[in-house]
This record gives sequence, structure tokens and C-alpha cells, in this order.
Amino acid sequence: MRRYDLISCHDCGVLHRKRPLRPREKARCTRCRSVLYRGGSADLSRVVALTLATALVFLIAQFFPIVELEVKGLRSSATLIGAIAVLWAEQMQLVAAMVFFFTMLFPAVELAALLYVALGLRAGFQPPGFHRVLRAVQAARRWGMTEVLMIGILITVIKMTSLARVLPQPGLFAFGALTLMLAVVVSFDPKTLWNVGDDLAPRPPPRLDYAALRASGAELLPCHACGLVTPAAPGRAHPRCARCGCQLHRRRPDSVNRTWALLIAAAILYIPANLLPVMYTHSLFGSEDDTIMSGVLFFWNSGSKGLAAIIFIASVVVPMLKLAVLTLLAWSAQRRSRWRPLQRTVLYRLVEFIGRWSMLDIFVVTLTVALVRFQALAVITAGPGALAFGSVVVLTMLASMQFDPRLIWDHVDSGPPVYPGEKHV
Ligand SMILES: [Zn+2]
Ligand SMILES: [Zn+2]
Repeated sequence: MRRYDLISCHDCGVLHRKRPLRPREKARCTRCRSVLYRGGSADLSRVVALTLATALVFLIAQFFPIVELEVKGLRSSATLIGAIAVLWAEQMQLVAAMVFFFTMLFPAVELAALLYVALGLRAGFQPPGFHRVLRAVQAARRWGMTEVLMIGILITVIKMTSLARVLPQPGLFAFGALTLMLAVVVSFDPKTLWNVGDDLAPRPPPRLDYAALRASGAELLPCHACGLVTPAAPGRAHPRCARCGCQLHRRRPDSVNRTWALLIAAAILYIPANLLPVMYTHSLFGSEDDTIMSGVLFFWNSGSKGLAAIIFIASVVVPMLKLAVLTLLAWSAQRRSRWRPLQRTVLYRLVEFIGRWSMLDIFVVTLTVALVRFQALAVITAGPGALAFGSVVVLTMLASMQFDPRLIWDHVDSGPPVYPGEKHV
């Protein structure tokens, strides 16, 4: 740990001094147990090779058909982009846009941005726009949902086997490989690249004597993007990170109010999301409306109890749990509660982790709608419930991003001392 030896815990805000770790070792916060940083240096050649290979598989997955259906000599197949186009043409532009952003655009931005930065650093210089591009990697990563899509593809395939002969296509295998490769890419922390970048910066940020600064009473604020802890001069209205230029906040501004606003909007939309149909089936045997719950019952009654459970958990339990937990977090933060801060932090991490999984049903609807296009036999179209449901997922994700977990700890204690001899109340 060269220039900067302080790190602020993302979840509780306590400052820690960094120590060198062995590869694969993790440093955890002594107060809330969240992972602060991991050991091992950035092997740039490995990052470049892995990202390049993943980008290649990404392209194959996007543009090759995923599965083909065959019913009575009629065939129908779907690529991801084709499925999005079908939704778009059916006046479901917002849902189509969501699927496009979460499964194509954000993963593509993450891979391209990571490749750009790693290639530059490997060549020995900070590429233009270094900080902005690295921030894009982090932002895109929060919204990429390839692994959720993969499970959605598998559920769709199993669902289709009861209707038609299902022939797996190259896109299916490419998505399988892509999911595994992205899991490795995501295990790499972009903050490591910021540390590498410091050594190559034309004007490296100044070396700071943190102990003296802290003793002098300057407030040390962490940067959300690059992790650097910067001293904020007292009275300065809008301090900025000395390294990446991001605006620094003691606590996310208006965190609780914004969380409430998004949460209330999500709770209202949760009602039509469950009552309105997400899919319409028109077939020789008549028409049928499917809500989220009737989709679950379909799997349950057709003997796939495991699948029914997965969809029920992802589409019904997870959104409800998110709404309940975020309400508890916002309410307790507003009341400055000291009640069980550790458990509340664990709940916050849980919500952050499971948030994206409720998008599962939307992906299943998208693929089903694109695949079942047998004009004479059966056609499935998307219903307004899908839009309401997708909006609930996005709104609850935004709500958990707006919530500042450090508010949980603000009225508990000031955490362990960072420097020997430092006093705490
Ligand atoms: Zn902590
Ligand atoms: Zn920064």
C-alpha cells in the first residue's frame, strides 16, 4: 500500500489503515465485518486476456440464436437482440429498453471500458479519460444482469419443452460460458487499477500525512468511486476527490428522503405488477392471460415444483422482501435508531445482492414472447404487468443505491481508533 494508507468502510464509514495482504486474503471491517479490500496485485496481462476472451464470447452470445422451437414442422428461433426487437415492435418499448440495457449495453460497456483502461495501463500510461472510464466500469457492473438472464434462458427452455421440440443453438452455450467468464471478471476490483494508475499519472495526487491531518481536526472523506480518503477543509462547501475529481459527501445527500420517494413509487407499482397480466397467449384453444402468480402455478401444476419455487422466490418473495427491508432501513435511519446496527447492515447487503434477481421473470417473458410465434398455432405477447413489474425492480434497485448504509452507524459509536493514542467517545 504505497501512497494512501487509509480506507473507509463502504458500509459503516469507519476508517482503517491498510496493510499489505497475501493473494486471496481479505481485509474485513472490524466494526461491521464487510470486506474492505482483497490481497494480490493487478496482473494486467491476465485482466486484458480475460476481458478480451469474455468480450469475444459476449459477441457470439448476442448475435447467435439461443434456441429453436419446432412444432408440427413449423420452426421458430430467437436471438437476444431479436427478442428485444419483438418486444419493441409490440409497443412494449420500455420493457425492451430495460432488457437491452441490463443484458446488452451495461455488460458491453463494462467489458469495453475495462479493456480500454487495462490496455492503457499495461502499455505504461494513463489513457485519456482514465478516471471517467473506470467509474463507468463500476456503474455498468451494478446494472449488468447476465447471470440472471442465463437462469431466465434455462427456465424458458424447460418451459418450452412442454410445448414444442427444443433445439439448443450456439447462443445458449455462449451464454453459459459468458456467465462463468463474467463471474471471474467481476471478481476483479477496479479500485486496484486506480492504485496502478497513480504510479503512471502525469500529476500524482499529493502524499498526505493522515495522522497529522486527523489530529488537526480535518474531516477525512472517502471517495465513492476510487476509494481515496481526502481531507475536507472545514467550511468548504463542495470538496472533491484529490485523485478522480468526484464530489465527496460526508453522507449521501438527502439519502433517506430519496429512498422513501423511490420506495413509495415501487410499492404503488407493485400492485399492478401482480394483478395485471405479464403475458397473453392466443392459440387454437382460445386466449389466456398470465399474471406472475399464474406463471408460478403453471410450473407447479405441470410437475416442475423446483422451477415454480425459483420463480416464486425471485418474482414474489424477493420484491416483497426488498420493500420490507428498505422500509425498515429508511425508517430506522430516520428515527436515528441504535437498534441492532450489525443485523441492519447485513440486511442492507442482502438487498443489494438480491436486487437484480427479480428481473428473472421479465427475461423469461421476453424470450417466450420471441419464441412462440407460430401464427396459426399459438402466439404469445407481453402484457402491461411486465412493464409495472420491471419498474418495481428498477425502482427498488435505485432505492437501495440511494440509501447510505453509514446512516445505520451514525448514532451507535465512532468505531475503533485508526491511529495509536487516538481518543474516541
Ligand atoms: Zn464497516
Ligand atoms: Zn476518487
